[in-house]
Amino acid sequence: MSDTINFNNTEIAFGTRTKKELLRAKFLFGMLEYGWLTRMAKPLLNIAFKSRLPIDPIIKKTIFSQFCGGENLMECKASIDTLYNGGEIMSILDYSVEGAENEASFDQTLETLLKICQFSEFQKQVPFMVFKPSGIGKLELFQKISEGTPLSISETEEWNKVKNRFELICQSVAKTDNLKIMVDAEESWSHAAVDQLTEEMMVKYNTRRTVVFATVQLYLSKKLDYLQKLKSLGKQNHIKIGVKLVRGAYMEKERDRALEHGYESPICEDKSSTDQNFNNGCSYVLENLDVFDLFLGTHNELSCLQLVKKLKEKGISNSDNRIWFGQLYGMSDNISYNLAERGYNVAKYVPFGPVRDVMPYLIRRAEENSSVGSQSSREMELIKKELLRRKYSK
Ligand SMILES: Cc1cc2nc3c(=O)[nH]c(=O)nc-3n(C[C@H](O)[C@H](O)[C@H](O)COP(=O)(O)OP(=O)(O)OC[C@H]3O[C@@H](n4cnc5c(N)ncnc54)[C@H](O)[C@@H]3O)c2cc1C
Repeated sequence: MSDTINFNNTEIAFGTRTKKELLRAKFLFGMLEYGWLTRMAKPLLNIAFKSRLPIDPIIKKTIFSQFCGGENLMECKASIDTLYNGGEIMSILDYSVEGAENEASFDQTLETLLKICQFSEFQKQVPFMVFKPSGIGKLELFQKISEGTPLSISETEEWNKVKNRFELICQSVAKTDNLKIMVDAEESWSHAAVDQLTEEMMVKYNTRRTVVFATVQLYLSKKLDYLQKLKSLGKQNHIKIGVKLVRGAYMEKERDRALEHGYESPICEDKSSTDQNFNNGCSYVLENLDVFDLFLGTHNELSCLQLVKKLKEKGISNSDNRIWFGQLYGMSDNISYNLAERGYNVAKYVPFGPVRDVMPYLIRRAEENSSVGSQSSREMELIKKELLRRKYSK
């Protein structure tokens, strides 16, 4: 077996995909290349839903099947089994419903997360859970805490409920043998409050094993300092620190807000500075593996290859349980399957929820895949290559 990983090996990448599924994916990614179509899709879908047009089955068979594991846990079971049986890819069930910003909806999300915990505990192919802080509390509240703004009496009550939900999720995961929990990162103005809660949970639950993982967005230029802070927290408390490193998904929002409020944008000035910061963050975590567990959440082939190279240089085995690679369901299977084939730990986010409720998530995926320099042309190229390979290998 050659020493270098070939992310162009489509036979491995699409081993679990039928010809029909590949043709559907080719059609979808082809459509997503037309940016105007994606821009039109949002208002058209809204009109269709409001007019009660029966479009759910069409959505379910197309974009939903590409990017989501199912509408509920039972439907997801088939998707996570395929990932595992087809290439030992692990799954992270991601309840992708973005509900209303009210207490009933936050409680409903908590309830679903606790169900996911019960379900995942007994599935060896589901080692992580994940949640977005904004799913269990108002972003405005996280912002007020982060900025040190005094809370009213009712806000204090709401904040106590948020803390309670946060704790209940981490506590139930900590009670399992192997399950771990990742706290997704959102807008930077929510970070101080989220970090504080996440750190408290790490101190409480990361004593015996790494249960809680924080997310660090390295498009934020100052986040290397935060990694140093996390290392100190780990050392001082004799705990393990789990970190998911990502570049970050809220760039435009961050820049717009900075402009609007007249402060310096916290985002690295260009893509190459973000890449540099991401590499530096990854190197820092690898140099301190006595404290850190690393989950690298990226679709960037070079970033994955760099981590592979660094692991080799350090003599760290491919299957070291402190190191994880992560991608999203329906995207970059060429990275996921080829890494897993070499024995690296790979886990994919598997979003799920009722078709209508996951539409905001699906629209974001569509926008991401149709933006300039997007993934979709790469995905198309690989799918075409695989279809040709199958045609001529008969
Ligand atoms: C498993 C997984 C989990 C994730 N979890 C989170 C999460 O919790 N929070 C979150 O915010 N995101 C999350 N993401 C999304 C992630 O942050 C990126 O937005 C996405 O993966 C694209 O980055 P990349 O490294 O895959 O690819 P690349 O294409 O190499 O990088 C694109 C990214 O580079 C940065 N960038 C692009 N242009 C510029 C520019 N001009 N200046 C500065 N920076 C620029 C942006 O962050 C952009 O998203 C997750 C992704 C994955 C795969």
